[in-house]
Amino acid sequence: MISTLLKNFRHSIALHLLTTIFSVYFLVAVVVTVVQLYKEYEDTKTKFYNEIQTLPATFNRGIVDSVWTYNKELLHSILLGMHNLPIVVGIKVESNDHKMDLRIGTVLNEKDEIAYYDSSGKITQQQEFGFGTDTLFKYEFPIDYQGEAFDHKVPLGQVTVYSNNQLVFDRVKYGFILILINSIIKTIALWFITYFFIKKYLGRPLEEFTTKIRNQDVQSPQTIDLNIHWTDTNELLILKDSYNQMIQRLNKHKLLSITDKLTGLFNRLKLDEALNDEFNRSNRFKRSFGIIILGIDHFKRVNDTYGHQVGDQVLIQFAKILKENIRKVDTLGRWGGEEFMIICSETDLKGTIKLAQSLREIIRKYDFPGVGNLSASFGVSIYSGDENIDSVIAHADNALYKAKSNGRNRVESE
Ligand code: GH3
Ligand code: MG
Repeated sequence: MISTLLKNFRHSIALHLLTTIFSVYFLVAVVVTVVQLYKEYEDTKTKFYNEIQTLPATFNRGIVDSVWTYNKELLHSILLGMHNLPIVVGIKVESNDHKMDLRIGTVLNEKDEIAYYDSSGKITQQQEFGFGTDTLFKYEFPIDYQGEAFDHKVPLGQVTVYSNNQLVFDRVKYGFILILINSIIKTIALWFITYFFIKKYLGRPLEEFTTKIRNQDVQSPQTIDLNIHWTDTNELLILKDSYNQMIQRLNKHKLLSITDKLTGLFNRLKLDEALNDEFNRSNRFKRSFGIIILGIDHFKRVNDTYGHQVGDQVLIQFAKILKENIRKVDTLGRWGGEEFMIICSETDLKGTIKLAQSLREIIRKYDFPGVGNLSASFGVSIYSGDENIDSVIAHADNALYKAKSNGRNRVESE
């Protein structure tokens, strides 16, 4: 099952094309997605910065007041509120007199190392793990008191708000997963659509083409037609036409190679082949077959009296008469010069002699244009399974010789 699938896979243009196209497509898609993800990540990080920068507007007033009044409880609750924001991982308040210092969440200490503080502001060992948790970025803003009693600002310290890359990534992640699912579904759909159409427009016709070529009869290959309904010419139709032209040329060539030019009958080559086939068939089915070799009597005189061209016309007419008066299953050919051979399939001696006699009579009665009456002599022999093909021919030849020497216009057998 798997192996046939693999075999089909290796032998299918559609699948091969798809594998190649989609491998390249996949690589391109991965690169594009990574670039897209990176861009999205950078954009989101910028958005984070911008959001963090709006924090002072909301919280600065409360922080300044609590630090100015040394209200640790108030400061603590403000920082907790800030820490709850989804873009904040930690906050650090550093007051100039260090009395109101407070740290919550993940912050950087004096040595720029990551330090963790719990919600009450105590340092802990608890650590955050995961992508981007160790990459903090921060935003600092000063706490300045501007009371009615002063005409200038009183610097009280500064606040640092921390965020980290993981928060950014978390926000990008869901969008990215959506993009991923989206592109996987699209790719699969595209794969099937492409497969369907390549298979339909290329795979199937090619398959049909191959099957038809494979089923051709080697002896007489025919031109083939494909079940393609396109109006335009395409590579497949061109291929099919080329194939058909080749077949036509081949058939024509084959026909020429087995045909006698003058009479259009089979030539000696084809007769030999037919004798061989008949011999094999006869041996297999244990049936006899007959052969007749016949020659026109005194044909030389026709040539000598009326010329070679008239002689040719007589040969053509003679061949026509023979052809019209034998069975379809019999094989007729020009044996050479003015001699012809008839192979009578599945026929015994009696039947073969009968055919020879009837042909002899038809020829005898025929009025050859410009020449008049002619006659022919016939030698008959039968193959019935106990000799070779050459000796059957020799017997028919001898019989013809007998017919000639016994006065011509005769049928003899041997
Ligand atoms: P027989 O009755 O003894 O067979 O006498 P015949 O005149 O037929 O004598 P033979 O078989 O010796 O001569 C055959 C002649 O047929 C000789 C040759 O010139 C002629 N011939 C052979 N092929 C052709 C051909 O294609 N065209 C023409 N016009 N004549 C041919
Ligand atoms: Mg002759």
